[in-house]
Amino acid sequence: MIPGADFNDLPKAIKLAEQYDEVYFAVGIHPYDIDMYDESIMEKYVNHPKCIAIGECGLDYFRLPEDEDEKIANIKKQKEVFISQIKFAKKVKKPLIIHIRDASNDSKQILIDYDAKEVGGVLHCFNASPHLLCLAEHNFYFGIGGVLTFKNAKKLVEILPKIPKEKLLIETDAPYLTPHPHRGERNDPYYTVFVSQKMSELLNISDSEIQDLTTNNAKKLFKEFSNLSWI
Ligand SMILES: [Zn+2]
Repeated sequence: MIPGADFNDLPKAIKLAEQYDEVYFAVGIHPYDIDMYDESIMEKYVNHPKCIAIGECGLDYFRLPEDEDEKIANIKKQKEVFISQIKFAKKVKKPLIIHIRDASNDSKQILIDYDAKEVGGVLHCFNASPHLLCLAEHNFYFGIGGVLTFKNAKKLVEILPKIPKEKLLIETDAPYLTPHPHRGERNDPYYTVFVSQKMSELLNISDSEIQDLTTNNAKKLFKEFSNLSWI
């Protein structure tokens, strides 16, 4: 699954999705690219048969402007664009790929208030916030990536067993967050094996069961709303 972030790189994602059966893409605007948001462009891409989700979209308060007025305006705009994408996902009946950084409470509130449950989605790069665990009941899955294998991943390691098994997913966030022992190199989907191994160790479930579980969870989430027959 290649998530969208801005519209400039989407043609590359589409090309890959058209070339390889097992590759799909999502259309969406990342919180860093909110000025680019345009629903008519979303409409254009979402009708592609291999576009099966909306995102990344969400809230990111990690890199806000220093000026107080600009900061308030930026947060306001981030929320507006996030809400628009939730409404859009509900309109086109596709699940959401959610990006949350330093904004757990606002993100949770918006997802609940705007009834994102109707389409569900994945909290990508789940940041181990206990406040977000309740979203499992709102049809949200938890994307676990390379961070789980890092030596300083204490929070995520502790919270992992609290995530309902049927809501666990594995992701790359490639080219970032490469799992140990390849940390620092460019990330690649192949390296998800290190995440599943670590998950297997922590949850005391065999590695092949973890792979089956997370693959089936992904199929359930993305197929349920996409009219695709790819199982
Ligand atoms: Zn992200």
